[in-house]
Amino acid sequence: MKALVYHGPRDMRYEEVETPKPQKDEVLVKVRSVSICGSDLSGYKGGSAMRVPPLIMGHEFSGEIAQLGEGVSGFKVGERVGVVTNLYCGKCQDCKDGLQNVCDYRRIIGTTMKAGSYNGAMADYVVAPAEKIMPLPDSVSFDECALVEPLSISLRATKHAGNLQGKNVAVFGSGPIGLMGVMCMKSFGAKRIVAIDIVEKRLKMALQCGATDAVNSKDDVYGITRKLTDGVGLDVVFDAAGFPETINTGIEIARNGGTLLLVGMASPKMEIEYKHAVVKELRLQSSYMYTSEMREGLQMIIDGKLNVAQMITSRHPMSEGPRIFEELASGKTSDIKVILTNE
Ligand SMILES: [Zn+2]
Ligand SMILES: [Zn+2]
Repeated sequence: MKALVYHGPRDMRYEEVETPKPQKDEVLVKVRSVSICGSDLSGYKGGSAMRVPPLIMGHEFSGEIAQLGEGVSGFKVGERVGVVTNLYCGKCQDCKDGLQNVCDYRRIIGTTMKAGSYNGAMADYVVAPAEKIMPLPDSVSFDECALVEPLSISLRATKHAGNLQGKNVAVFGSGPIGLMGVMCMKSFGAKRIVAIDIVEKRLKMALQCGATDAVNSKDDVYGITRKLTDGVGLDVVFDAAGFPETINTGIEIARNGGTLLLVGMASPKMEIEYKHAVVKELRLQSSYMYTSEMREGLQMIIDGKLNVAQMITSRHPMSEGPRIFEELASGKTSDIKVILTNE
């Protein structure tokens, strides 16, 4: 089969590799859509321990079942499917406690973890355990299904905020995770949703995705959000960026007793307005990956609760992957979500 193989920093090749064979309790999936994640890009640039070459990336995808391994029943060849990509161990204390998202023994399709590398979906075919397969109704496109994984990240973070009915919220960063955060918060009944970003085009997309207000971070974010909330401040601030500037502005614009959802990780280390956060009795809540949220997110799409496809700004054949990765890495495009396809 053909695959996009990551050979090292800025070295991605579309080449012939051996087609994987499904083992016992596994299925072979013919990939139809795979979405490029920001984490794939930082891997491509050589900045991630979670992408060790040689590796086929791709953890946001959908396709059709091509072959069933031994012992697999309940699925048909040709069936349209999505795949839950977190292959947690299920036996450790974290898994038993419902924290499969941080299982130390997990593997993730398309990445390198402590437990090893697992080739992903930037290829003609990918192998997955049958228990991770999510059947896809005809009403959901392959592209939409490829966005269920990033949706699950935003969904989990949003759930951490608790009841959002009638609440005033803000979202830092209008990339895919922030935009899906906007959609989830809207779907959970938030009243005012303020999107904050520095790129006007992205803010426009945030409004399209359901934000009620868009604020450029170059402007007076504190003043504007105070005005929008009758002087009180925001109940919840979803940080999909993770820069010192966004975290500290988040601490500032949150209301007393408000919640800061920490999702973005642009800066691994930073100085924060710690005392300010404590004296406002803010709840600092981090959120990482997903546990049950991929299946829940797909159900929300099936139920028509959100439209994730609108953030797809371009689609290309898989064979063009090397050029697309290089363009994205060089920052020359203003794409939000890019899909690679096998058609
Ligand atoms: Zn991702
Ligand atoms: Zn585990």
